[in-house]
Amino acid sequence: MSIYGTLGLEPAINSSGKMTALGGSVLSREVTDAMAAAGREHVVIADLMVEAGRWIADVVGTEDACVSSGASSGVAIAVASVIAGTSKPLIQGLPGRVGKPFEVVIQKGHSVDFGAPITQMIALGGGQAVEVGSVNRVDVSDIEGAIGPDTAAVMFVQSHHTVHKGMVSLAETIRVAHERGIPVILDAAAEDDLQRWAKSGADIVIFSGGKAIGGPTSGIVCGSRELMTAARAQYAGIARPMKVGKEQVMGLIAALTAFIGSDADAAAEGQAQRARMQAIATRLSLHPGIDAIVEQDDAGREIYRAVFTVRAESGTTAPLIARALAASRPPMYLRDNKAAAGQLALDPRPLTTKEESILLDRLDEILTEAAHA
Ligand SMILES: *Cc1c(COP(=O)(O)O)cnc(C)c1O
Repeated sequence: MSIYGTLGLEPAINSSGKMTALGGSVLSREVTDAMAAAGREHVVIADLMVEAGRWIADVVGTEDACVSSGASSGVAIAVASVIAGTSKPLIQGLPGRVGKPFEVVIQKGHSVDFGAPITQMIALGGGQAVEVGSVNRVDVSDIEGAIGPDTAAVMFVQSHHTVHKGMVSLAETIRVAHERGIPVILDAAAEDDLQRWAKSGADIVIFSGGKAIGGPTSGIVCGSRELMTAARAQYAGIARPMKVGKEQVMGLIAALTAFIGSDADAAAEGQAQRARMQAIATRLSLHPGIDAIVEQDDAGREIYRAVFTVRAESGTTAPLIARALAASRPPMYLRDNKAAAGQLALDPRPLTTKEESILLDRLDEILTEAAHA
């Protein structure tokens, strides 16, 4: 029986991707073993944070790093670090105004809600988001015009959540900010090429430990030694209620160890995914009104998904299918960010073979019923 049975719950079948709402990642045995072992011993947390930061920095290629409880707390900690540095009175004065620059410039198309708004995470760190441009168009001059004496940082969000067309690139953002001596904070929460983003030139880069890396609920903040010393210092201030436990720190280290070891297999893994998703697409296309194909991830990652379009002949709609799956026993989830446009997708990463078979049987049932209704 599932551990969640203790609470009368069934584990969900997740084919939507790494979703916080479904518990992020399923952890490997190495990760859960590391967490269990960490939980059985005491350690000096301040030393653990320094050494874990150093270890992670070596992996991602920055000077230093700081573990956080997630990418969202990473955003708050990053903002607090640039505002307060390591000064105790400033750290403990946040998130109030402490007489330091506090504005965080962000392109309007990057002002996302990933389950909570990024502007609120900025506020938790003592900042105030200053959104610039329009949702679908931002010019370099919009960013330049917003930078002034109150500017603490410029935030850039690298994510499928953001508007992509019409935004100012990361390289341009870094150029205009650095010309004015302003640091750039990069939220790359769900990205999988850690080194690429860590070495992009942004001053602070943030990743979620529970997404691409496959770790427990945790996050990584990385950058210069000075900024990371400041980041860790925020645990005596606004980061205290966002603290991360020894189990999460060691689980994250174990997940990173496996994650970097798997780099070489990414292409082979991609090909296996593609074949698996092709078989699913072929099976779904047998239903009237369903057109299924295999598509590579928009952001060019080695992820292949079976994407299907739901036409009127099917007798149903994409949102109705998603709702019927979520109401099933066990509850099942597809990738539904384009459901309003009639599209659903299966993400192979979180799906075991057994779950795949349960999910497809249920999908067949839903589509067959709809076609005969
Ligand atoms: C998921 C996400 C976050 C939040 O990450 P957590 O680790 O769940 O706190 C922040 N920013 C972006 C762009 C995200 O996609």
